[in-house]
Amino acid sequence: MALEEFAQKIAQVRQRQEILSQQVCKSSLPPQELLVQALDELQIALEELHVAEEELIEQNEQLEIARASLEQERQRYLELFDFAPDGYLITNTEGLIIEANHTAVNLLKIPKKYLQGKPLANYIPQEERAAFRRRLLQLKQMERLQEWEVCLQSRYDNLFYCSLSVVTVYDPHCNPIGWRWLVRDITARKQAEEQLRAIQLQNIQLQEAARIKAQFMSVISHELRTPMNAILGFSQLLLRRYYHLFPFELRTMVEKIVNSGKQLLKLIEDILDFSSLEAGRLELQLQEFNLVELVKSTTEQLSFLVQQKNLTLAVHTSLHNPRIINDRDRLQQVLVNLLSNAIKFTETGGVFVEVQQLEQDKLVVMVKDTGIGIPETELKNIFQGFWQLNQSTTRKHGGTGLGLAIVDKLVRLMNGSITVESQLGQGSTFRVVLPREVRREELRVKS
Ligand code: ADP
Repeated sequence: MALEEFAQKIAQVRQRQEILSQQVCKSSLPPQELLVQALDELQIALEELHVAEEELIEQNEQLEIARASLEQERQRYLELFDFAPDGYLITNTEGLIIEANHTAVNLLKIPKKYLQGKPLANYIPQEERAAFRRRLLQLKQMERLQEWEVCLQSRYDNLFYCSLSVVTVYDPHCNPIGWRWLVRDITARKQAEEQLRAIQLQNIQLQEAARIKAQFMSVISHELRTPMNAILGFSQLLLRRYYHLFPFELRTMVEKIVNSGKQLLKLIEDILDFSSLEAGRLELQLQEFNLVELVKSTTEQLSFLVQQKNLTLAVHTSLHNPRIINDRDRLQQVLVNLLSNAIKFTETGGVFVEVQQLEQDKLVVMVKDTGIGIPETELKNIFQGFWQLNQSTTRKHGGTGLGLAIVDKLVRLMNGSITVESQLGQGSTFRVVLPREVRREELRVKS
């Protein structure tokens, strides 16, 4: 029952009472009957009022329930506001803080009661305050503003980056009365961006250092190669011409010069190749040739090494069409490296080469040996430059630790891949997968 209805009921009762008093004045009835009539009327009026009172009580109860549920809802929104992961602030259009949630209080490290009534600009570092105020003035013309990145200053002068999103609050007559601010702490993101920038810069510096290193290595090796060739050439000539005239001691000395010269020249050439490959300066000279013939001639060239160690050397191929397009000399370099390693690290048994067709215009060349093998933990390092297994083996066999790194880079340049399987004491198998045809366009795309 509405309030007006209740008032209406009271007015009706009052009206009855007036009619009754008029009737009493005019009536010719004896006072006793009049009293009974009046009491009846009063009874009716009281009952009506009683009904109205009950209805009112009921309505009041319903109102109480509605009010409690509204309060509950308000509390829920308050909690959502307070415990939201982002900071929330409400300011008036002058920028004075009216309300702040928990996160905003934690970010600014100022108790809520001290925040309320303070200008938000107080928490902007001094040097950026003027710009912030100018933006506040512009805000008055806008309905909302997203992702406004500013630096905030907490009570203890700690600076942190945050992104502000602002929405204008209007009164019922559509006049702006304030702003709701979402304050998101983006310090971690900014730091990550900073780190990324530093890493990128470091990367550029590293690339530049690597380029300078490669250039240096290439210049140095060029400069070393010329005199080295002269030393080697003349000492070999000495041996050839005067071999029989030299006393044994002198002959051994010149032989040592020749061997050391060869080793040094190999090292210089490996360094040169490695640095050109690293700098992406090595270009393949593509041509068509017979792969099986190349494998056979290369193994023959190395057969004297196999004989010296009493090992077996066998080539097996099931290839129908042995013609491929690749860089012949560079592929031979790959084979020589793999074969000489296989021979170098094998004491009994032998070395086997297999050439097979793979699906979709791909071929595989496998170099297997029954040598010392490589520990599983070391297999991941084997194609790194200047890596050798252990010092005593290295001293015994020599080598630079560059051979497999060059092989890996060359095979990749040929759009192929190399993998290795090995068991200690049992031997190793190197698998080189190559396209039947290395295409120039693909090489250009890669570089
Ligand atoms: P190196 O000039 O020392 O032979 P490589 O890069 O060719 O350089 O080889 C790196 C190392 O990998 C070698 O020192 C050796 O320890 C190991 N290695 C390579 N091939 C074999 C193989 N067939 N059997 C056992 N170990 C091998």
